Amino acid sequence: MNSIRHSGIGMTSERTRARMVERLREQGIRDMAVLAAMAQVPRHLFVSEALAIRAYEDTALPIGLGQTISQPYSVARMLEVLRDGREMQRVLEVGSGCGYQAAVLSRIAREVYSVERISTLLGQARRTIRELRLSNIKLKHGDGNAGLAEFAPFDGIVLAAAAAVPPSALLAQLADGGRMVLPRGVGENQFMVLIERQGDSYQEQVLEMVHFVPLLPGVA
Ligand code: SAH
Repeated sequence: MNSIRHSGIGMTSERTRARMVERLREQGIRDMAVLAAMAQVPRHLFVSEALAIRAYEDTALPIGLGQTISQPYSVARMLEVLRDGREMQRVLEVGSGCGYQAAVLSRIAREVYSVERISTLLGQARRTIRELRLSNIKLKHGDGNAGLAEFAPFDGIVLAAAAAVPPSALLAQLADGGRMVLPRGVGENQFMVLIERQGDSYQEQVLEMVHFVPLLPGVA
């Protein structure tokens, strides 16, 4: 996974990433597949060169257009809850942003679909994903509120932006036995929520407090 971009700086080293993963473990992340995936994906390539030096800090960082790359802990925690120790086949992410979480997902799911509403960000994500040759990711420009009906059902759906209520199209596109993880709420009052579908019934579990950008309508 070496890259021509940002090459040669100390931050790119596997050791720096290994330390990030060690911190995630200390913070309580237990899923070995998620930890292994995060040890592999070069997060510094998903941020601007100026911020690459901070890429392995456990913090969200700006990626332009008022958006951020999610904090490593949030990514790890959401994917751990989504995966629940199982093999995942087809997963949908809403809010690709720079594409980092999609890249991590590509290591723990067979097929990854990710929708982003801001085309400029999607373009950046595409470049990075292509550079890393992650061929099992399909990035789509669109409003994630509608999901991706043509590729449904998904055995996992993860939202990287906070919704006041889980979008009904996404609930409908969840496979029987599938799991959806989302930040739910408005402003500072957000909780991570896990929704499990069994037939026509949806079981919901409210987990810890989180902080994400809002899920917005339409495309830009
Ligand atoms: N997954 C990213 C985090 C991106 S931040 C990572 O790995 O770092 C959340 C993203 O959701 C932003 O890029 C924002 O533009 C996008 N977003 C917000 N509302 C959306 C919607 N309705 N459909 C698709 N993307 C949306």
